[in-house]
Amino acid sequence: MTDQSFRSNYACVVGGAGPAGMGFLFNAYKTGALASLARSGLLVVDAALAVGRGRLGDYHITANSVGDVFLDCLRDPALLPIFAPLEHSAAFRRLRDDPHGAPMLTQVGELLAHASTLFMRYVTGHLGVDVALGTRIEKIVAGDDAGFQLALRSGSRSWQIDCGALVLNLGGRQNREYLNWSLAEQDLQLPHDGPTVYSSDALLSLSPAELVELFGDRVGPDTRFTVVGGSHSAFSVLDNLACALDCLGLEQLTLIHRAPIRLFFESVEEARSAGYEVDESMDVCPVSGRVNRSGGLRYRAHQVGSDVLANGYVSGTRVKVEMLRMDDRSPANRARLEQCCRDPGVMVQAIGYQPCLPAMRHANGEPLQVRESKGGLDSDAAGCLRDLSGRPIPGLYSFGLGSGLAANPMLGSERSFDSRIYGVWQFHHDASGRVIEALQEHLANRAAQAPASVMDTQLEGAPFVLPALG
Ligand SMILES: Cc1cc2nc3c(=O)[nH]c(=O)nc-3n(C[C@H](O)[C@H](O)[C@H](O)COP(=O)(O)OP(=O)(O)OC[C@H]3O[C@@H](n4cnc5c(N)ncnc54)[C@H](O)[C@@H]3O)c2cc1C
Repeated sequence: MTDQSFRSNYACVVGGAGPAGMGFLFNAYKTGALASLARSGLLVVDAALAVGRGRLGDYHITANSVGDVFLDCLRDPALLPIFAPLEHSAAFRRLRDDPHGAPMLTQVGELLAHASTLFMRYVTGHLGVDVALGTRIEKIVAGDDAGFQLALRSGSRSWQIDCGALVLNLGGRQNREYLNWSLAEQDLQLPHDGPTVYSSDALLSLSPAELVELFGDRVGPDTRFTVVGGSHSAFSVLDNLACALDCLGLEQLTLIHRAPIRLFFESVEEARSAGYEVDESMDVCPVSGRVNRSGGLRYRAHQVGSDVLANGYVSGTRVKVEMLRMDDRSPANRARLEQCCRDPGVMVQAIGYQPCLPAMRHANGEPLQVRESKGGLDSDAAGCLRDLSGRPIPGLYSFGLGSGLAANPMLGSERSFDSRIYGVWQFHHDASGRVIEALQEHLANRAAQAPASVMDTQLEGAPFVLPALG
């Protein structure tokens, strides 16, 4: 444990040091921006006691990218000396030994946590980056000077700091209201005595043994298990429930989905030879030629998806999957949909994430509201969030879970994908790269306008215990 006092004013605060926040920091180091940000004052704040893992390492599922994609985030020559000790990391060795296989996310989380800890040790010691772990950002006030005031809390201690720019990636959550709203769009309702609703996030964080403990005594003809969604999360939930509960006699799961189920393929030829129908104008990325590059199921979820589409069973189990399209108004389908929503049973919400944001307001006390976009938050090409009228909020950036970025036409995507893009590789490259440039420009403009005295003030009498980086 180290005693540390914080400045009252930072050029930049990185709020949330999960995979997205750490992607920004790694990339800023690689591009050389981190040293100058640190000189002007850089604070990293995270509610957890460790950095880098975020929620990703909690999910008991296979990644939707191969191991090499994650290793690529650590590969830059500038990072080599910092990451030399990773040779001793079991997770690193596992991914390195099977770079073309899709690893378990628990392993990816372990690797990212280890690398991030090494990185933070280095940049706090050598560059003077400040870090406050076990600390929550509770409130944000956007000042009239294009900066922000943050209310921070660590246990019973709270204090405030000012900053010129804020990179805010606090993860996502799955609102029950969002599920209600999606069902209501199709005239479906969940009565109070209807199914018990779980978030896919919560269930994917459970091991098979924990799933058995939670649902073991509910498996039987009277309990319907319904998953709402059609993405990687939804198929991972089908997979985990089927694998855990098959031996207890679970016979069927129901999947309620809105859009067609999309599978990823490296090329149109590969898709066609697998019997998958491709709409070349909508499903193919013009840059890479890949099919459903952004929205398609990959790896284990791909296998489960293709087996469910082909024969109606979760791969490797005896569990059937009934698929119901939400917008199919045929009487038989409607009756089944209404039954799933009405009958007591289990319903799993796997229809995306909404961002976790602390209370935000303007200096005049009015709420600062950010505009949503399908699958996340609306932002400009540089990840700068927009207010409700569509104007970018200078200095406020977000691109992680619950926010995402619109597909970049230079990097490509398929036309049928109209949601937001997020993933570890993007956090470390394209997404954070755009933010770094815009943030530096924002700080330069601000410095040109602001009196010099506001920077570099020490927060008197505020010693703070920084938990040791584990
Ligand atoms: C089920 C699932 C599977 C996924 N699989 C993949 C995959 O295979 N490959 C891939 O590239 N991507 C994947 N993703 C997408 C993405 O990489 C992960 O969601 C990743 O965890 C997002 O990182 P994040 O930093 O945005 O959020 P999180 O991982 O949620 O991290 C948020 C951080 O913010 C901190 N925090 C929260 N609130 C506060 C606060 N008030 N103050 C301070 N700190 C706070 C938390 O402690 C945490 O460290 C997956 C996502 C999901 C949901």
